[in-house]
Amino acid sequence: MSLRMCARCAALTERPVLIAEVHQGTGPGFDVYACPDCAPAFPPLQDVLDLFTARRTEGEAR
Ligand SMILES: [Zn+2]
Repeated sequence: MSLRMCARCAALTERPVLIAEVHQGTGPGFDVYACPDCAPAFPPLQDVLDLFTARRTEGEAR
């Protein structure tokens, strides 16, 4: 188990919730975590939204 800092309240939590994956073109990306209390305040994972967009585009192509 690893300690992560919440991106919203800056509290250290032993039960981090992954809320976003930041991908950078020039280097390794990093993950953004929130504590369980703050997690519901964040929008869904960006990667999930990308999946929806890709699937919709794929559907329109057929
Ligand atoms: Zn928090």
